[in-house]
Order: sequence, then structure tokens, then C-alpha cells
Amino acid sequence: MNINDLYKRVILDHAKNRRNHRETDCYTHKVHYKNPTCGDVMTMYATIKANKIEDLSFVGEGCFISMASSSMFTNIAKKKTIAEIEELSILMKDMILTGKAVDDLRLEDTISLGDIHKFPARYNCALMPWQAFEKLLKNREK
Ligand code: ZN
Repeated sequence: MNINDLYKRVILDHAKNRRNHRETDCYTHKVHYKNPTCGDVMTMYATIKANKIEDLSFVGEGCFISMASSSMFTNIAKKKTIAEIEELSILMKDMILTGKAVDDLRLEDTISLGDIHKFPARYNCALMPWQAFEKLLKNREK
């Protein structure tokens, strides 16, 4: 198995078995987000205390790239600080938009989305949870 096959398997696994895919009544922040280019939709829930993400989940429907990316994002963002996510967000955008290779292991499975750089129509799908999270931070509800 080469690395591209491995990445494909990782992406399909996240799309099929979405991590942290659940609604919750217990959150400090919530956002609805719609991908303008593909029609993917999601609602993201977060519990953020002292700038740290204590819990994070989402429900959504859309293409397998957006759902896989959301599953991966919720996995890595949990228990991190907002500053760390902002740092990782820059790396993630660089990887998708410019095709720059990243080796920051904190990105975990999202590294498997690097090839999306070759498919500009899918940029917003891969970046959806990252963009949703930026919007979520402005949406304190409780
Ligand atoms: Zn999509």
C-alpha cells in the first residue's frame, strides 16, 4: 500500500465513521455553517473555557471530503487552546491552498487531505470545519 492509498483510506474512514458526530445541549458556542461552493452544511458545538476547547462536536451533511475533514478537525481541536487552533489553521490553509507540505504532527489525520490542493473546487470542503470554527468563536451563546 502506498501513502496515497493510505490517505484515501483514512479519509473514507472518517467520512463513514464520523468522530464526534453528535448534537448536544451542553455548549458555550454554536454555529451553523454552509459551504458556499458545494452545499455542505454543518452545525458545530463547542464548550470553551479559559480559551481551551473542552468539548467539540458537529452534525452535518455533505460530500465525503467535508464530512471527513470535520471529523478530523473535531478530533484534533479538542483539548487544545484557541491559540493553538489558530496556529494550526494557518498550516492547514497553506497545505490546501498552496500545496505546501506540512509535517506538524498536531494536524494528525488532516495531513491526508493535502492532495485536495489539486482540486480547487474542493478547497472549501476541506477547510469547512476550520472556517466554521472561526465563525463559531464569534458566537458565544451561553
Ligand atoms: Zn463538499
